[in-house]
Amino acid sequence: MFELEKDGLIANYNMLEESKTEFLPEEVWIWDETLRDGEQTPGVFLTLDEKIELAKLMDEMGVAVIAAGFPAVSQSEKDTIKQISSENLGLSVAAPARAMRSDVDACLECEVDEIPIFIASSNLHLKYKLRMTRKQVVEAVADSVSYAKDHGVVVDFITEDSSRTEIEFLIELHKVAIEAGADKICACDTVGFLRPLSMKYLMSKIREEVLKVKKVPLAVHCHDDFGLATSNTLAAIEEGVTFPLTCINGYGERAGNAPLEEVVMALEVLYGINTHIKTEKLYELSTLTEKYFTVPVPVHKAIVGENAFSHESGIHIHGEMEHHRAYEPISPSSVGRGRKFFMGKFTGAHAIRHKLEKKGIEATDDEVSIIVERIKELQEKLGKDDMRSAFNDVKKIMSEMHTGVSEDELWEIVNDVTGKGI
Ligand code: MN
Repeated sequence: MFELEKDGLIANYNMLEESKTEFLPEEVWIWDETLRDGEQTPGVFLTLDEKIELAKLMDEMGVAVIAAGFPAVSQSEKDTIKQISSENLGLSVAAPARAMRSDVDACLECEVDEIPIFIASSNLHLKYKLRMTRKQVVEAVADSVSYAKDHGVVVDFITEDSSRTEIEFLIELHKVAIEAGADKICACDTVGFLRPLSMKYLMSKIREEVLKVKKVPLAVHCHDDFGLATSNTLAAIEEGVTFPLTCINGYGERAGNAPLEEVVMALEVLYGINTHIKTEKLYELSTLTEKYFTVPVPVHKAIVGENAFSHESGIHIHGEMEHHRAYEPISPSSVGRGRKFFMGKFTGAHAIRHKLEKKGIEATDDEVSIIVERIKELQEKLGKDDMRSAFNDVKKIMSEMHTGVSEDELWEIVNDVTGKGI
């Protein structure tokens, strides 16, 4: 990228001082939620071995914190987290707790390095989910945070649904947590309800008001309900956040979370911020996670999708052959990939000639244009019926794989247990 700018071949608005903010950090640390929020992708579960392998790869790549699971869910979840903790990884193994001592105890049992304590903060969640008053919430936060702190672990404080919480209460709650000893604080756009500018407003308020108590690092957790998870994460970082929460491939509840690979590459390339991540391992991490999640990554997905560095149009392939940055913002090798040229109706003579040259085959212009014509004819003649029916079969199999327990199976269990139901 630097070379292209130096040679005057491209303009780069990203590097203009006017396009940066005062609070932009020089480095950030990735806090990954794939093994917790990611595993909450409907229908997905991971085995212990899969979780350990993913944790090890993230450790090797430079991820700073991983949420390993949620101990309060079950004994087997606790056992899994304990196993991950015992792997002696360089990263910090975290497990979340609701703002109650029993959840903190469950995390301590797993011998984790870090306990993110969370509680919902919006009126909606207080009234209908927690059925707690604000006063009760404040007390629960002060008590659970200081209780966890007394056990010598790193303690984070997370407000759930922060982005739909009145700012005064949000500030108050985070202040209480810091006063009780919280080491980091995290705001969540739990239902992906913010846009980048409103995220900047929210984070600037937290930075200005909450950090008066004590300067602790800020974290952010964004969901992709409007396709803005990455943008909102970057907006938060522009206001000083240094711990973005991510999920590999953007997995997670509903529309998922901010994808690790997008956040990392945008920060490294578009902002010049050090993420401490070995980016050339990103593709390996993505494909391994896809394999264990059995949730396909969309072919057009940024950075890791099958087509992210593929070209079909003759014009693009021609440009690519003359200069690889013509139609690629970054080198595919920077994320551990190669580029692909597809042969189809948009393929031109340049692409064919390039292929032939690579094989050492000489051909006349006429021969090349006949080959191009034949490729176009062949694709246009292919019936779409077979392709459609294969696609429908794959979709059907995938949806059956990810339904978890079906309605019928649920009522069978109910009938088994209660003798009533079906
Ligand atoms: Mn979440």
